[in-house]
Amino acid sequence: MAQLVYSSKINKIRSFALILIFAGIGFMYIGLLVKKIDWLMAIFFLIGVISIVLSTVVYFWIGMLSTKAVPIICPSCEKPTKMLGRVDACMHCKQPLTLDKDLEGKEFDEKYNSRKYQREQKKNNNTK
Ligand SMILES: [Zn+2]
Repeated sequence: MAQLVYSSKINKIRSFALILIFAGIGFMYIGLLVKKIDWLMAIFFLIGVISIVLSTVVYFWIGMLSTKAVPIICPSCEKPTKMLGRVDACMHCKQPLTLDKDLEGKEFDEKYNSRKYQREQKKNNNTK
């Protein structure tokens, strides 16, 4: 089974926005190809414009997220990176990182970021 490489959240969102831009340009290009059919061209152009507007929104969102992310120096590659949430991966070397001492040394899991998991942890701590 292929090993899943966890990439930093900001990088993931950024590549998603990039794909959206290319998809938008692609749709507009298809629109040009079918310009003989008015309504079909209009639909492709509309999808293209929506994709590009969406990617702009996503880029804006990344900007907002970046201001909230915690800048740290990666312990593995010693490059500056940013963390989102309680667990994230280094942008450069994909080293899993955590801000939570309780999770240190544990196997990296995206579930540590979920509300449900944090609630369960709280419950466990209370019953102890
Ligand atoms: Zn690193």
